[in-house]
Amino acid sequence: MTDLHPFVAGLPKAELHVHHVGSASPRIVAELAARHPDSKVPTDPEALADYFTFTDFAHFIDVYLSVVDLIRTPEDVRLLTFEVARDMARQNIRYAELTITPFSSTRRGIDEKAFMEAIEDARRAAEAELGTVLRWCFDIPGEAGLQAAEETARLAVDLRPEGLVSFGLGGPEIGVPRPQFKPYFDRAIAAGLHSVPHAGETTGPETVWDALNHLGAERIGHGTSSVKDPALLAHLAEHRIALEVCPTSNIATRAVATLDEHPVREMVDAGVLVTINSDDPPMFGTDLNSEYVVAARLLGLDERGVAGLAKNAVEASFLDPAGKRRIAAEIDAYTENWLAR
Ligand SMILES: [Zn+2]
Repeated sequence: MTDLHPFVAGLPKAELHVHHVGSASPRIVAELAARHPDSKVPTDPEALADYFTFTDFAHFIDVYLSVVDLIRTPEDVRLLTFEVARDMARQNIRYAELTITPFSSTRRGIDEKAFMEAIEDARRAAEAELGTVLRWCFDIPGEAGLQAAEETARLAVDLRPEGLVSFGLGGPEIGVPRPQFKPYFDRAIAAGLHSVPHAGETTGPETVWDALNHLGAERIGHGTSSVKDPALLAHLAEHRIALEVCPTSNIATRAVATLDEHPVREMVDAGVLVTINSDDPPMFGTDLNSEYVVAARLLGLDERGVAGLAKNAVEASFLDPAGKRRIAAEIDAYTENWLAR
């Protein structure tokens, strides 16, 4: 079988499910750690590589929180955001909806207006200098409860930065029922934001139904367990509600036991609009390019099939129609050129 890595590396791509802090690569973490020498995070790249080797999920959470702790000033926020875009540009990611949890920064005392300015400044610089277009999804950290939901909705609606397109919900699903967040999603939707909650990653298909029926979900983060409910798959397919599939993440968090058991094939066979994403790439030892190669293997795709997946992400994105046409045309031109070599 052809090695699809070189093709995927140059393929123009859009990414719809990737977290801000979760995208901090060892290179970025080293830069942040150097700014805050009192932190316990190593600054030496080799020591960092060990630090990023997770022994279990609890260790992953520890490391994630230690990176959160490095983001203390608006300058840290700007640096993280721009450098994440740089890592994306290196993979030919042309457009990304980055999930940001502003509550984790504002509750730590970062001024909310300065926070918005920092991400917007990074967004404009990334587009001008790297050619990667960034948009934001502000998500509620579910584990922090309704106070976090209230604060996230307020920040999204009242301070709404220009790049904000959607409203999300992350964190654990077990013990955090989706319907309780309805009032906050209603506010965000009334303000013109799209609804993209995580659902059905670690709980069953009923959570996906809750996200659709109570939170007005237009795309579903993960939605892995949707395959357990044929009626749900049919509903997703009929309404073109895309699933944001993150294969390696699902293994790392044990949402799925092994890659070979990943249900992405069943999703595609049911006609669901499937998009491929990386979630928290450096923390799961992956990047978007690797996720495309994994998906191609699971789905038995050739170059044109992989290009089709990339176009699914463009279609399911919240980019304007002209922007969608532009990236889709780039994908087609690149693929035809590649195959004509
Ligand atoms: Zn996620």
